[in-house]
Amino acid sequence: MSRQDSDIREYFTRMDRSFYMDKDKRLARFDQAVSIGHGQTISQPSLVLAMTLALDVQPESRVLEIGTGSGFQTDLLASSSDSVYTVERIEPLHHRAKEKLTEAGFTNIYFKLGDGSLGWKAHSPYDRIMVTAAAPKVNETLLEQLKPGGKMVIPVGDSLDQELRLIEKDQLGEVTSSFLERVMFVQLIEDTV
Ligand code: SAH
Repeated sequence: MSRQDSDIREYFTRMDRSFYMDKDKRLARFDQAVSIGHGQTISQPSLVLAMTLALDVQPESRVLEIGTGSGFQTDLLASSSDSVYTVERIEPLHHRAKEKLTEAGFTNIYFKLGDGSLGWKAHSPYDRIMVTAAAPKVNETLLEQLKPGGKMVIPVGDSLDQELRLIEKDQLGEVTSSFLERVMFVQLIEDTV
């Protein structure tokens, strides 16, 4: 196990998920998904950790996260990378996560309210992209915002059956995709304008 992986695991064991929950705080310590309101959920902690390790986040990585949600995953990413650019489309969740992560003392997280299926072009390209809502296919716009040598973790599929995939872009821009595990995330909603 690399030093970075053991640091991430060590930090993860000290995290208190209840800090990011408004209600049913007693459920925080169980390894199960919990509701954060607005029809959204925080994944089970073991999956949040597995996705972060699969993304191979490095201390110098600039990370784009789609689906801020409660901010729990953002916390783990921000503590193990250079900076996180996180996009959420539901306004109360965006505000709440910003409040909590600021209260937790983070100064390397940038928040955006909007449709994350468009990524966040102004700060692209990114070393790593974490998508925490499921899309029917790998999003081309996000792929464009990934650096050569970059990695993306994304759940792909419909509302009942999704594959968590690791997408890697090599230095020449060639993209490969590998299967990690079967998962069930809420849908990535593409806002029509
Ligand atoms: N990572 C979060 C859990 C996210 S649940 C956590 O740790 O709590 C998925 C989140 O993706 C929800 O908050 C949902 O509102 C958001 N989402 C769905 N479609 C989106 C889109 N197109 N752009 C930005 N956020 C989106």
